Amino acid sequence: MMNIILFGGPGSGKGTQSARLIDNYGLYHISSGEILRDHIKRGTDLGRTADSYISKGHLIPDDLMISIIEHTLDTEAKDKKGVIFDGFPRTIPQAEALADLLKRRNSDVHAVIGLEVPDEELTARMLNRGKETGRADDNPETIEKRLKVYHEQTQPLREHYIKKGQYIPIDGTGQVDDIFHSIREGLREKTGAEASKS
Ligand code: ATP
Ligand code: MG
Repeated sequence: MMNIILFGGPGSGKGTQSARLIDNYGLYHISSGEILRDHIKRGTDLGRTADSYISKGHLIPDDLMISIIEHTLDTEAKDKKGVIFDGFPRTIPQAEALADLLKRRNSDVHAVIGLEVPDEELTARMLNRGKETGRADDNPETIEKRLKVYHEQTQPLREHYIKKGQYIPIDGTGQVDDIFHSIREGLREKTGAEASKS
């Protein structure tokens, strides 16, 4: 079992690097943002609730987010070799809940990959993604709010995982391939895990 958290600001490249990690390490992908966007697209009750927060750049409430992740762990992610958590946890209570959920399943967090990217670059990437994909929360006002929320509520997790000795800092600027290369090196050093492809 290897459970990895992919951590970083909005637009830091979590989705992009997740795709490579799944391919190379045979991990199951749990993206909190994708789960929520899927509910919004399908027009479920949860989707309507989620949309009211996401469109304002706010986080959805911890209890709700945690119960969604718990459900996913016990359904789709059950019996997998390991999980990559993309976009979760985003608050200290979520991190504590995740540690507890994994412990109760006789597992643990094995590494936290932190994609470190300056705010100006995050903003530029999200504005670009908004233009290219029409993603609703990639507009100037919501982006500004998301960055503020990130610094206030999510960034404290960096210290939290540094203290636990689980944090692997990665320079998230530059070429996608080079960033993935740094991630592989970092994972090898921290966990001994080797990628299946090269
Ligand atoms: P990236 O581009 O690096 O993949 P992102 O921040 O642009 O990251 P998502 O992770 O897809 O995008 O999240 C989109 C939105 O979904 C967040 O702004 C937030 O409102 C909601 N959300 C996602 N994960 C959580 C979470 N763990 N807790 C609360 N809300 C969340
Ligand atoms: Mg994402």
